[in-house]
Amino acid sequence: NTPSPLPEETRIITVSNQKGGVGKTTTTVNLASALARRGANVLVIDLDPQGNASTALGVPHRPEITSVYEVLLGDASVEEAIQVSSDHENLMCVPSTINLAGAEIELVSLVAREQRLRTALDAFLKNSDRPYHYVFIDCPPSLGLLTVNAFVAGGEVLIPIQCEYYALEGLSQLLGNIQLIQKHLNPGLRVSTILLTMYDARTNLAQEVANEVRQHFPAEVLDAVIPRSVRISEAPSYGQTVHEYDSSSIGALAYLEAAAEVAERGAPTTNTDEGDQG
Ligand code: ADP
Ligand code: MG
Repeated sequence: NTPSPLPEETRIITVSNQKGGVGKTTTTVNLASALARRGANVLVIDLDPQGNASTALGVPHRPEITSVYEVLLGDASVEEAIQVSSDHENLMCVPSTINLAGAEIELVSLVAREQRLRTALDAFLKNSDRPYHYVFIDCPPSLGLLTVNAFVAGGEVLIPIQCEYYALEGLSQLLGNIQLIQKHLNPGLRVSTILLTMYDARTNLAQEVANEVRQHFPAEVLDAVIPRSVRISEAPSYGQTVHEYDSSSIGALAYLEAAAEVAERGAPTTNTDEGDQG
């Protein structure tokens, strides 16, 4: 295991898919943890009112805690909301609280409502003593204003795809929205990575879905595939990532492999003239 190269500029990776239960949060926390374990400084921004990423990272997210909600409303800085995860000293988290559930509506009437996360994050990264190598943004299962904020703040999109029926359903809508964001709000945004999750090697279906996704997105799909694994699904109930919970499990190893690939492939080029979105 050679250590991953660390990016010179912060890579901000938005983990999105408007379908629920496809592995967004699981991928966010376990990839982030894997990269932290390989020496990177990593920040996870929990942008889902459910707060599952905060839970998995062992970060308190009771309603009275300063969270990404206050950051979006301009009532707190990222610095004021950030916490160290219990998973690893290099892994930080801006938690979400249930207050965020109202934010989709509250944001509507605010100035620069689509840029609020980006503005707060830029200010934080510029002034931080610690060089951040990666920021992951865990999105809610919708394409509303919270997700728009995540797309505007990010440089890359990572789409987890569950190897099940209807895996590709909704994907064109997601890609269409990303194109709109590129056109109007964030020309540098790229779909850099697609990760196949919950892969069950015993079924033909999983194989078929994986093949189909690879055919459509040959450049974006990682070679590493995340297997369906009980250890992965058990870890959050202990407030842990799979790496902390069972570091030698196949799920932990798969996320380490995916992390190495993400690191080695590096950030996508942001030549907006090419504008190719597969
Ligand atoms: P999302 O954030 O897209 O809604 P989650 O990451 O919360 O999806 O995953 C949905 C459910 O599936 C969770 O209960 C999670 O523990 C479980 N899960 C995710 N990935 C795996 C996997 N590779 N193997 C087994 N269970 C998984
Ligand atoms: Mg989630």
